[in-house]
Amino acid sequence: DAIANQIAAGEVVQRPASVVKELLENSVDADSKKIQLILSEAGKNLIQVIDDGKGMSETDARMSFERHATSKITNSDDLFNIRTMGFRGEALASIAAVARVELKSKRPEAELGTSILIEASEIKSQGPDAVPQGTSIAVKNLFYNVPARRNFLKSNPVEMRHILDEFHRVALANPQIAFSLTQNDKEIYNAPAGKLSQRIVHLFGKNYQSQLITCQEETEWFKVSGYIGKPEHAKKTRGEQFFFVNNRFIKSGYLNHAVQGAFEGLLKDDCHPFYTLFIEMDPSKIDINVHPTKTEIKFEDERSVYGIIKSAVKQALGTHNV
Ligand code: ADP
Ligand code: MG
Repeated sequence: DAIANQIAAGEVVQRPASVVKELLENSVDADSKKIQLILSEAGKNLIQVIDDGKGMSETDARMSFERHATSKITNSDDLFNIRTMGFRGEALASIAAVARVELKSKRPEAELGTSILIEASEIKSQGPDAVPQGTSIAVKNLFYNVPARRNFLKSNPVEMRHILDEFHRVALANPQIAFSLTQNDKEIYNAPAGKLSQRIVHLFGKNYQSQLITCQEETEWFKVSGYIGKPEHAKKTRGEQFFFVNNRFIKSGYLNHAVQGAFEGLLKDDCHPFYTLFIEMDPSKIDINVHPTKTEIKFEDERSVYGIIKSAVKQALGTHNV
């Protein structure tokens, strides 16, 4: 079991940003209205996520750190399967294997909440506790028990960059939830619940207010909606390009090419337009297992997807130019 813990931890938890992603996604899943992310030293010393979601019972809280998967790794095929199946029910167990984790949680109907302290997969203490409704999970001293991994972490600015990427993705995908981010006691974001356009402006700056163009197209089996940035605002860096499929962030060079193609002739050399586009479609037409990190996917009918995206962006640019 210790070996399974270590293998899974290595896959799920590569750096502070991986912890941030898993904790934020859990808080979203818990129907939270407000999610706070608190960091110290770019997450190396502390990553804490506090939500006001549905919380956990005492049993749930204890169970949440237990690995649900029962399969044993016997060959590389099995390993590949585990990697691609998305570690359902393994994130917290993996995180707790390589850090000190403090969980506090209370369900709305419960009188008292519960708090648990876990170090390197071992429960150090657990008991009833007067805690606010929702869940707080604090992950301290990541990789303290795996020095090789701890030493492998990059500088704070680099780790912070990765964390911000994850934060931006979750915050964009869920504008109906308020998000805040504090690093070393300094508030970096405090974004209230609102519309997608407001969320974009909040995350990327006031000057985005006037540069967003609505993009929307729907067919029988496919829907794309969101915003593209005006071509004259395109930047040399490509960090601000987001595709979500059924509300999950994905990376797709192919779809990016479709957008870039629609902008053809409108961009200055080596410039990349802003976009935040949401695709909604039947999950059975998606091959999610194409890449272990789950951010890359393949569509059954990728030529059609390409065509619809390109035409949607072209049309949006056309209305903007009139
Ligand atoms: P998964 O999300 O794949 O189920 P995790 O290890 O991330 O696996 O979480 C394990 C379980 O712990 C979740 O299924 C959920 O029941 C519970 N849980 C984790 N975080 C929260 C939270 N913020 N609020 C309520 N329940 C949570
Ligand atoms: Mg999870």
